[in-house]
Amino acid sequence: MKCPNCGAELHTSPDQEVRFCQYCGHKIEIKDYTPETMAGAVYGIGKSIIKEVSKHVEENKEYNRKQQEERRKYDWLWLIVGLLALALLPFLFRLQG
Ligand SMILES: [Zn+2]
Repeated sequence: MKCPNCGAELHTSPDQEVRFCQYCGHKIEIKDYTPETMAGAVYGIGKSIIKEVSKHVEENKEYNRKQQEERRKYDWLWLIVGLLALALLPFLFRLQG
């Protein structure tokens, strides 16, 4: 890692919490720079993105499901209309004849 103040390369071990730059004396909080905290931050961002995306996916799924239900309802409606038309057809012929 590099010193955030002067950019000098620092030699640190993971167990060190606080360190001073050997070049400029800048106090560096190691815990703010560990790969774990960086990964944690990235993981947190990633998690919130996934949460947001999956929320939209769920909303979309719900919407599609409703649309499908609506369509199915109309399928039944058309089937009933068709059957009624078929049932009424002989009566219509009888009326004409
Ligand atoms: Zn420095």
